[in-house]
Amino acid sequence: MRRLAIPLLALALAGCGGAQGPADEPAEPADRFDSAAAWKLLREQVDMGPRPAGSETSRRLAERLRGLLPGGRFQAVPGGLRNVIGRVPGRGDGFVVLGAHYDTKDEPGFVGANDGASGTAVAVQLAREIRPRTLRRTVVFALFDGEESPRGTPDSQFAERGLRGSRVAAPGLSDARAMILLDFVGDRDLSIPREGLSDAGLWRRLRDAASAAGAVEAFPPGVAGGVQDDHLPFLEEGVPSIDLIDFTFPCWHRRCDDLSAVSERSLDQTGETVIRLLASL
Ligand SMILES: [Zn+2]
Repeated sequence: MRRLAIPLLALALAGCGGAQGPADEPAEPADRFDSAAAWKLLREQVDMGPRPAGSETSRRLAERLRGLLPGGRFQAVPGGLRNVIGRVPGRGDGFVVLGAHYDTKDEPGFVGANDGASGTAVAVQLAREIRPRTLRRTVVFALFDGEESPRGTPDSQFAERGLRGSRVAAPGLSDARAMILLDFVGDRDLSIPREGLSDAGLWRRLRDAASAAGAVEAFPPGVAGGVQDDHLPFLEEGVPSIDLIDFTFPCWHRRCDDLSAVSERSLDQTGETVIRLLASL
């Protein structure tokens, strides 16, 4: 992802005591998220070493992810890359998209425990755990290849040369009712305000889900700067989209983005929140 040149807005405490959205029917009890299993998935990716798009290791990971996702299949992306797509059917009409990227930044020794492995681990564990009876909408799981731009790409060209997998996936999923992107969701002391381009209404529902999960401290009120990320092609298709990304991550694209930078508790806060959000959509 690339930060947009928008100054980080002071956290505007929006919505304190504001009106709630229309009352939903009571959510069915959601399955609890198995954070130990998600942590194992994160470690498995990190143990593989660097996983840049197109590498032998990345291709091996893609095979593994295809086997883990219900209905898992590949979607070709130019340059020999591949998205991994799966789905869990819901009871009613329509679908939502849950996305994450599984490639890592192409830098020597960079293993992307947070940037790459964390979102992928939570997404895959949700796909394995969610029971169709708890879902109103079908959930399409999209694990994107080639989010990172190739090595040496100037930052200013990120939007054209990165986001390769999501640009392929989004047009065919433009009827989605919502898109939820998991990016930096594993760092210790997780704190994710609404990313500047993310849909405000959908974010309110995420915070409601976080409250129900006892994890609202991980999703504080306020709005941060926008980022170019895999939700962008979905926004361009008119799909309400949110990006769960912790901006205050000191190891962004640095080799210290390893197991010492992430925690199982953060995966749990994200998983418990999103499993409830998906059940409410
Ligand atoms: Zn990155």
